[in-house]
Amino acid sequence: MMSAWDLQGKVAIVTGGNGGIGLGMAQGLSAAGATVVIAARNADKSAAALASIRASGGKASAVTVDVTDEADCKAMVASAVEMHGRLDILINNAGINIRKRPEDYTLAEWQQVLQTNLSSAFLCSQAAYPEMKRSSRGKIINIGSMMSIFGTAFTTPYAASKGGIVQMTRALACAWAADNIQVNAVLPGWIDTELTQTARKDIAGLHERVLARTPAGRWGEAHDFGGIAVFLASTASDFITGTAIPVDGGYSVQG
Ligand code: NDP
Repeated sequence: MMSAWDLQGKVAIVTGGNGGIGLGMAQGLSAAGATVVIAARNADKSAAALASIRASGGKASAVTVDVTDEADCKAMVASAVEMHGRLDILINNAGINIRKRPEDYTLAEWQQVLQTNLSSAFLCSQAAYPEMKRSSRGKIINIGSMMSIFGTAFTTPYAASKGGIVQMTRALACAWAADNIQVNAVLPGWIDTELTQTARKDIAGLHERVLARTPAGRWGEAHDFGGIAVFLASTASDFITGTAIPVDGGYSVQG
């Protein structure tokens, strides 16, 4: 009998899949048998990610996409379907942060963060919907953050975008449940990636504060996201929709 976690024959797009958490998820999906489409802006980084997946025996391709561009989001889905014949899984992972006090942001900076982290996830989901509806199944996984739950002084647009991810996830889950499309969010804790390497340089004491606050006593790694990606992309999670699951070493439950 085929395992409920088996993703053989499934096609997945991972936005921002050329590094960090996105690549960790892409590698997990690939190990479970899925064909993965890496979708990001930096073509060299995507080529390297592709090579690493193929080196482990996985099937993958790459498309160059700016997820803030609606036409790019549509073209990304079209090219995944053209290359691989279908689309089963979409991971909306691309994201950025601009750290400032709220009084210092320009409108352009606010919009850049909201467009990259939130509007993009909506546009990519919208682009993926007809293909998923056609095959009467689909899995959408949106990446939130601890900033979906908590606030900090230096992340106002980021927190707004990540709070929005959770509510958008619930709304899409309700809208598309009848089409057998499940939509869930993953809320990473503090994970060692390029994004947080910059944060650690910019914010004195961050590294120690994260270690002290995280019950697991360590930073998360990209490969910590393979399991949740496979679970939420597979039929094992068919009755789970609209949730936001922390993957945080206990950060969000520590009193
Ligand atoms: P990285 O900076 O390593 O990865 C971000 C990815 O997003 C890159 O692959 C980048 O690729 C892509 N990206 C950024 N802007 C665009 C764009 N306009 N179009 C297409 N792709 C884009 O960071 P992480 O792996 O840490 O972050 C991944 C997700 O996880 C983000 O949504 C982030 O907010 C979230 N997250 C991360 C946490 C952490 O501790 N690291 C904690 C909580 C949430 P390219 O530059 O080639 O386009």
